[in-house]
Amino acid sequence: MKALITGVTGQDGHYLAKHLLGLGYRVFGGYRRSSSSVVPPSVEPVPLELLEYESIRRAVERVKPDEIYNLGAQTHVGESFSAPLYTSDVNHLGVLRLLEVVRGTSIRLYQASTSEMFGGGRGLTEQGPFAPRSPYAAAKLAAHHDCRIYRTAYGVKVSCGILFNHESPLRSRDFVTRKITSNLANRTPFTLANVTSRRDWGHASDYVKAMHLMLQSDPNDFVIATGESHSILDFLKEAEKHAPWKAQYEVVEAEKRPWDVTELEGDPSKARAILGWEPAYSFGGLVKEMMQSDLSKPLRMAS
Ligand code: NDP
Repeated sequence: MKALITGVTGQDGHYLAKHLLGLGYRVFGGYRRSSSSVVPPSVEPVPLELLEYESIRRAVERVKPDEIYNLGAQTHVGESFSAPLYTSDVNHLGVLRLLEVVRGTSIRLYQASTSEMFGGGRGLTEQGPFAPRSPYAAAKLAAHHDCRIYRTAYGVKVSCGILFNHESPLRSRDFVTRKITSNLANRTPFTLANVTSRRDWGHASDYVKAMHLMLQSDPNDFVIATGESHSILDFLKEAEKHAPWKAQYEVVEAEKRPWDVTELEGDPSKARAILGWEPAYSFGGLVKEMMQSDLSKPLRMAS
């Protein structure tokens, strides 16, 4: 079995590649020459740029994959307000280019949709309602709709995972969870835009298993979440339990996004029933692993 992963240099790409290699897959990883991260070991690198139709077509032609996992994206919600056109080009049109390439083939495609598409709420399911609050979320929702259109109109075997926030020691330091654990571990002062926003946080290693399960099932949409939300302050307090000192942080209102999402909590009942998926990590287990990983690293400046 051959799998092609776009965005293989990212957090999920790393965990998914490891999971698929463990299942005996031959794994190809789409990378950009501009990437500052490395392609995970045992993954066969393939140049792939989602902004270019020809680049995608050539990569697919070369690998001839059974499955494609589209994880590549401009993933920063805050950054999408500064670069809305670029974000839309990668996160929406990039998916449309990919759909055009796989249309008429038997390739199974996984699309990384996101809980940000809901714009907020609790007990959120595949049915929506969707009310995006950022260019990132709007682009992802447009791509989500295109996947449903191509699935129904052309029989493209595409499944969309509506994943809620998932973290790990590999999360970039630009995201709030890793910002907290890396700065706390390094005893460096840091700023937060707010501490009250609530998110449904899981572990990336659990969530990539759901991506694979989706492509072994009939094409469909699935919410992947823990069903529990916690505030940023809860995360910070949980992290402090594993550090010998307290976090030095300041809440800076000016860092707030132009339109923020205050709470996201998902209902993964459909994934549980159809895919038999269950997360193995608890919230406490996730925070502990991230904190211990950052404490074990040599002291350095963290953002
Ligand atoms: P990361 O930010 O860790 O990784 C993003 C990846 O996308 C990187 O490998 C990056 O490559 C690649 N990429 C960016 N732009 C392009 C492009 N133009 N062409 C090809 N590749 C590109 O994200 P995650 O691993 O956390 O997320 C994976 C996917 O899941 C994303 O689509 C994200 O939007 C989605 N998602 C993530 C959630 C989360 O909580 N982590 C929640 C819901 C959805 P490079 O190294 O070259 O920059």
